[in-house]
Amino acid sequence: MKVEFYKHNIDAKDRRGVLKVLQSVFLTTGEWTSGFERKLVAYTKNQYAVGLMSCTHALELALRYFGIHGGDEVITTPMSFIATANVIESVGARPVFVDVEASTGNMDVSLIESAITKKTRAILPVHLYGQMCDMKKIREIADRHHLKVIEDAAHCIEGMRDGIRVGQLGDVACYSFYATKNITSGEGGAIACNDEAMYEWMIKARQHGMSKQAADRYTGKYEHYDMDFLGAKCNMSNIQAAMLVNQIDRIEALLNKKAKIAAQYDSAFARNTFMSIPVVLPNTKHARHLYTIWVNPLMRDVYMHKLQEAGIGVAVNFRSIHLMQYYQKKYGFCRGMFKNAERIGDSTISIPLYPKLTPRQIKYVHTKVNGIITV
Ligand SMILES: *Cc1c(COP(=O)(O)O)cnc(C)c1O
Repeated sequence: MKVEFYKHNIDAKDRRGVLKVLQSVFLTTGEWTSGFERKLVAYTKNQYAVGLMSCTHALELALRYFGIHGGDEVITTPMSFIATANVIESVGARPVFVDVEASTGNMDVSLIESAITKKTRAILPVHLYGQMCDMKKIREIADRHHLKVIEDAAHCIEGMRDGIRVGQLGDVACYSFYATKNITSGEGGAIACNDEAMYEWMIKARQHGMSKQAADRYTGKYEHYDMDFLGAKCNMSNIQAAMLVNQIDRIEALLNKKAKIAAQYDSAFARNTFMSIPVVLPNTKHARHLYTIWVNPLMRDVYMHKLQEAGIGVAVNFRSIHLMQYYQKKYGFCRGMFKNAERIGDSTISIPLYPKLTPRQIKYVHTKVNGIITV
């Protein structure tokens, strides 16, 4: 049997939407983009959203909006995709890592305050695998020290914790619609916020800082544009938005399917003492982006290759960022500095979790996992 690591959920309706855009005149950022932005704010319960080309762009624009630059520090987690730390590097600031909780892999909020210095400007938490960090505590700490909070919600469009949604306590939330994310346009991202000034800056910043958009010139009489700050070029196109605009209508149904599969995996693995899974806290709604298992680090790669030989797609999410060559060389990071992140990074395997998995495939995956992970 072959079980792909991931299959997207683009259906006939999404394809018809893309075809409509392709048959129209206007391919770049326009009505489909704003239509998707409206749905994203309605779904995430934020006031504003801006469609971008990736979550990496979203994070970088957020840092730039807050004026974070060389000499500044941003507190973040080493247990994430490298994008999270790379954007801090990109603006010239320094990523200051704090270790994660052994049980969830999320940033250990009890370590944040001791990492704060005079140079700290922001906290950048990641809602790992789809489970939210403790945003109430993070907001409290940020307020006490006058810091911004930028949420990396690449895994967590759907999540909730203590009744709080992503973006509600952070100053800005950054989403990804990359090829393997919960909803996808191949590449894509967005920010959501509740600050009108930030929204207006982002709308300009995604197109070089131009005061008029191509869509304005297309729909109204030609007006000259000006530019009063240096933006980026990372606007979401109508083509990308057409893929997403119906997926977001189905996002809860998709999540329910994944939650059921995750529950099946949970019970199948409950008695396997040679592996563990991240704890899901009772006060959370998990966005179920990834299903990861934690195994004996000495055996991880062996198990992973055996699963691949059995036709099962796997991934490693993630090896701790501080151990990437670039970060080791630049900052002198080494093993032993962030022990929980290192342990997760050495022991983690992500297994297939997506709505298109068939009952036979689900059974095949957990049977093989239990058959292979035996020491
Ligand atoms: C995927 C991912 C990103 C980057 O998303 P892109 O849209 O590919 O730029 C950032 N952070 C995390 C945690 C991710 O998993």
